Amino acid sequence: MVDIEKISKAVEIIKESNHIVVFSGAGISTESGIEDFRSEGGLWSRYDPSIYASYQYFLQDPSKFWQMHKELEGIVANAESNNAHKAIAELEKIGKVKAIITQNIDMLHQKSGSGTYGAKIYELHGAYGILHCVNCGKEFAFEEVDTKRVEYPVCECSGYIKPKVVLFGESLPRSVLDGAMNACRDCDCFIMVGSSLVISPANFMPSIAKNHGAYVIFVNRENTMMDDLADVFIKGSAGEIFTELMKRIKK
Ligand code: NAD
Repeated sequence: MVDIEKISKAVEIIKESNHIVVFSGAGISTESGIEDFRSEGGLWSRYDPSIYASYQYFLQDPSKFWQMHKELEGIVANAESNNAHKAIAELEKIGKVKAIITQNIDMLHQKSGSGTYGAKIYELHGAYGILHCVNCGKEFAFEEVDTKRVEYPVCECSGYIKPKVVLFGESLPRSVLDGAMNACRDCDCFIMVGSSLVISPANFMPSIAKNHGAYVIFVNRENTMMDDLADVFIKGSAGEIFTELMKRIKK
């Protein structure tokens, strides 16, 4: 059951704001069929992310990462954006959302049309789509590399090939991080949706926005350690909450 009082408060803030930053995590995509790290009995209980998504493990033995990737790739490729992604794209279309900072690699914001009405998308942890060699840096399109018939692909220089996503233990692309932090400094409203806010430096963003005077709205199924930063915390499912928000914003 969505808390209507909190929805109304968030609507008031969104209506007054003209420079909104949306910050999304894995939770925004669970209603699209891509599990977050917290779902029980799902993908991540079979593939412990601290091993299968670790850069150190990848360098020792890329077969573990690629084993997980082969299953995840199909799920991500077939996933469709949900009502939360679509509402964020609509907020961009009406001139409210100016930037989307996402920890996700699933490109579902782009699939819903985000980024086509002027908002900048900062993919903090990269995205599926491009592969690169961790040794020489050469980039490849997915179609260029045989990932199906081998345990893991290897570059002509003998380096291991991996998608350009940021694994645990890897640093974030500097320009993306700087751009995202600047967007947080410039916004008048910061909406966090579907993140446990435990992974840094991504989880610095809400406090940067708050310290620069923005209203902060959290939309999440569970509490986070940063709830004190939120002017409004709406607990529940992102799809349902954004549907309610949009109904009232459009009135
Ligand atoms: P997380 O798994 O740590 O936390 C997800 C949060 O979303 C939880 O607090 C959960 O309660 C909440 N949640 C789940 N479903 C929700 C829903 N329908 N509506 C509202 N809230 C919901 O995710 P994180 O903070 O993004 O950190 C995980 C890391 O894993 C990120 O770095 C991300 O790159 C990566 N990851 C990405 C994907 C993806 O691209 N879709 C999927 C899994 C993990």
